[in-house]
Amino acid sequence: MAKDEKGSAKEKKLSMKRRSIWETATKAQKGAIESISKDYMDFIGKAKTERLTVRELISGLKKAGFKDIAQQKTWRAGAKVYMVNRDKSLAAAVLGKEPIEDGANLIASHGDSPRLDLKQNPLFEDADTKLALLKTHYYGGIRKYHWVNIPLAIHGTVVLGNGKVVEVHIGEDPADPVFLITDLLPHLSKKQGERKLSEGIQGEELQVLLASLPFTDKKASKKVKLWVLDHLHRKYGMVEEDFVSSEFEITPAGPAREVGFDRSMIGAYGQDDRICAFTSVKALMDTASPRRTSICLVMDKEEIGSEGPTSMRSRFMEEFYSRLLELKDRDYPDRKLMESLSRTYAISSDVNGAVDPIFKQVHELQNAARLGHGICITKYTGSGGKYNANDASAEFMGLIRKVLNDAKVPWQTGELGKVDEGGGGTIAKFLAEHNMDVVDAGPALISMHSPMELSSKADVWATYRAYAAFFAS
Ligand code: MN
Ligand code: MN
Repeated sequence: MAKDEKGSAKEKKLSMKRRSIWETATKAQKGAIESISKDYMDFIGKAKTERLTVRELISGLKKAGFKDIAQQKTWRAGAKVYMVNRDKSLAAAVLGKEPIEDGANLIASHGDSPRLDLKQNPLFEDADTKLALLKTHYYGGIRKYHWVNIPLAIHGTVVLGNGKVVEVHIGEDPADPVFLITDLLPHLSKKQGERKLSEGIQGEELQVLLASLPFTDKKASKKVKLWVLDHLHRKYGMVEEDFVSSEFEITPAGPAREVGFDRSMIGAYGQDDRICAFTSVKALMDTASPRRTSICLVMDKEEIGSEGPTSMRSRFMEEFYSRLLELKDRDYPDRKLMESLSRTYAISSDVNGAVDPIFKQVHELQNAARLGHGICITKYTGSGGKYNANDASAEFMGLIRKVLNDAKVPWQTGELGKVDEGGGGTIAKFLAEHNMDVVDAGPALISMHSPMELSSKADVWATYRAYAAFFAS
């Protein structure tokens, strides 16, 4: 693999090239990179949960002329439809000129990100310190020590006893207070320092500090806890039992930030995988009257193995396909649903790990993705001998590679870490259960699954262009 432009003419002709987008981008392309990155940063700063992700995306889809699939009565090439599942996952499509029985071009991402959820009965007052805290249970793969001593926000959906639904969002507005998980001072952390890094902060130690004011009620036994309960009651109509029918998510607080003197990178929470949700849905919105039907899925619960009705393992995708088939024939035979799924070309739109200059040793550098080098195609994920991987075929890799090359989209390949170093999975294998060709492709991030994941503005642009080219193919 040639590292740069040096070398003989024959080398240049025969070797694979790997270059940073920044070295080759034209002035107009740099303008396009800035423009899409600005929109993306605005989105990722607001889309802090899977619900908020779906809400932001649906609002954009509606503005772009997409309507609820229930309102679409017949098949019309170029018609734009969407369907939402329990406010947590979505499907959207631009109907193609060719029949859906011949398959679609599908891009599937996920809108959930690792975070801290609250326990069922989370609120307590510590008797010695008279501080009120919340007990959490983390969601997805986090490194627990990342979550202490950083500003946190609370996002919640609560079903009250009378059935009314209220939302709680605190910590994102600069005028809001934030929340904190505390950690030991260096002066007293000698014993904690002897713990293994993975146990430096333990699951039960992830408790969120809420309040220190006592409620003015002489007879109350836990006055600070009562202050919090009174506050929640006055502001949201909540009582303690309402936590049982709530979903509170603790996320890092604050907007996305440009990173570096040159502002070429983006630091934000939740980029895995909302960077793919944003770029794929934007590509869909910019797709007019495609040959094959173009479909975006944004799924939930990927980070905990795609379990539950809002995940890729539910039958939501089939329901959406069956609605599409019904637009032409209300009594279509079952075989047609299977055919339209099995003839679909799918991109599992998820991130890969980019080489971190400080921790290069976990990567095999010839096969690892680089920040700013374009969308990363991942033929297989999994770990320990490709175990649990969807391994895309040579034929499908050939098709995708040609689509990207024909559209002059910068791309690279990437394998997540050295052989036997670790690994991970995506929803690719659940798509493949429907007998469709699937490959993983998305941007590469540094510090993935951390409260401040790092992407390259150039990769946001390259990923959007790759998805748009795939829909146009
Ligand atoms: Mn992901
Ligand atoms: Mn992930």
